[in-house]
Amino acid sequence: MQLNIKHTFTEELPSDPITENYRRQVKEACYSYVVPKQTKKPEILHISEEMIHTLGLSTKDMNSQMFKNVFTGNLVLENTTPYAMCYGGHQFGNWAGQLGDGRAINLFEVEHNNKQWQVQLKGAGETPYSRTADGLAVLRSSIREYLCSEAMYHLGVPTTRALSLALSGDEVMRDMLYDGNQAYEKGAIVTRVAPSFLRFGNFEIFAARQDHKTLKTLVDYTITHHFSHLGKPSKENYIHFFAEVAQRTLDMIIHWQRVGFVHGVMNTDNMSILGLTIDYGPYGWLEGFDFGWTPNTTDSQHKRYRYGNQPNIGLWNLYQLANALYPLIEETEPLETILETYKSDFERKSLEMMRSKLGLTINDDKDNTLVENLEDAFLLTETDMTLFFRNLSNFKKGDAAKGLEIVQAAFYMPKEVSDAVTQQWNNWFESYDVRLKKELLSDAERKTKMNAVNPKYVLRNYMSQLAIDDANKGDYKLIDELFQLLKKPYDEQLENEKWFAKRPDWARHKVGCSMLSCSS
Ligand code: AMP
Ligand code: MG
Repeated sequence: MQLNIKHTFTEELPSDPITENYRRQVKEACYSYVVPKQTKKPEILHISEEMIHTLGLSTKDMNSQMFKNVFTGNLVLENTTPYAMCYGGHQFGNWAGQLGDGRAINLFEVEHNNKQWQVQLKGAGETPYSRTADGLAVLRSSIREYLCSEAMYHLGVPTTRALSLALSGDEVMRDMLYDGNQAYEKGAIVTRVAPSFLRFGNFEIFAARQDHKTLKTLVDYTITHHFSHLGKPSKENYIHFFAEVAQRTLDMIIHWQRVGFVHGVMNTDNMSILGLTIDYGPYGWLEGFDFGWTPNTTDSQHKRYRYGNQPNIGLWNLYQLANALYPLIEETEPLETILETYKSDFERKSLEMMRSKLGLTINDDKDNTLVENLEDAFLLTETDMTLFFRNLSNFKKGDAAKGLEIVQAAFYMPKEVSDAVTQQWNNWFESYDVRLKKELLSDAERKTKMNAVNPKYVLRNYMSQLAIDDANKGDYKLIDELFQLLKKPYDEQLENEKWFAKRPDWARHKVGCSMLSCSS
């Protein structure tokens, strides 16, 4: 296995002097050295070939014993020193103190084709940051992370990637619904890959401890390696750095809104400093369009992380990051300006995104109303977001009367459509048609544009659950089928029409399909 290994993180940042693996508060250090756990009977279940090439590995490596052992934590490559990162975070609005990589272990950095990657195992055992937990991950949540992170990438959403999915061969005890019913589940390990796994929380922890020295070292490192286009670290560039993080965070969230992705746990320890979707836990995909929806049962009371609130939470989290960076900047005004810009950019970019979903290329004053009326109509018929937008591209200018028929397959409540509801939908199609007449695109051109932003296939919650149910019985075929399907989410894949359909009725209230807890 030939990898171009680098050590920038460990060489340039302070390490925890203690190398024993016991739980503790780690001060004035960005990480602790730790060795992954040996597992009983490791078995690779799936590999992303694309990531193999991205890292400079070969197809031959994929099938080797060495690959299996390295990417399940059973073999530490020579000249590498695995480590867990120290970070803190605000969880559900409250400062939670030190969290850290409780079950993630960074193996090494790789440089390939002028790109820098961090390679990390999730579920490879305890670290000094494991607190009261076991450092392990179960198969169901690992399948969900593996499939979804790659699916998001192919949807064009900034995200961490995944190289491999493996069984550890060990059993892991979990109380899946937090209802006192503990049970053993299969343990699994996902190899994740990203230019960096740094989170807002990595910066917050040093600010909270008033350790401005380490804070500065980490910010300088981040700018040097990941924001080098900003130039050398300086007070001025700290501001530019924050501005860019704010912009990337917003862009990522707008993408989430576009494809109907709900992260589920937008705590600041789950916010990537690079604006990547990170930590796929109790996430979910909108089926019936609803701003109030969250898949996370742990958040069912306040629904802090519901679909419609994601952009606001992005802003709230950026406030926390601004507070953390303040000691290096010592001026509130530029930070406040950036946060204000986020708000106005959000309004603008969100409308632009909705315009693109509707196939509108020019700006019109009344577009906001058109979008709001659509969102109201969605709720009347419990409307599947993905099916609706994809089918809407078949709309013909001048034929508003056909609108309802074109999108009807997206309704979960087709039988109960009253005259009043039909009327409201028809009114919307009338206004859409009037609006389209201001556009220059032909129906065919509009369709092509819309289909490039409105995916045909997303990883619906029940689809992962089907793959999980099969995998728990030892059948891994569906993992590969979904993996392949989701590589081309915008394409017509006629052999895969069955996945271009509403969520089946049985999945409406099934655990794992619409309800997920943080237990993973
Ligand atoms: P999450 O809610 O998954 O983002 O996790 C929040 C914190 O809990 C992070 O510090 C994780 O590393 C840690 N954590 C979550 N699950 C485990 C686990 N099974 N073992 C150790 N730490 C965990
Ligand atoms: Mg996390």
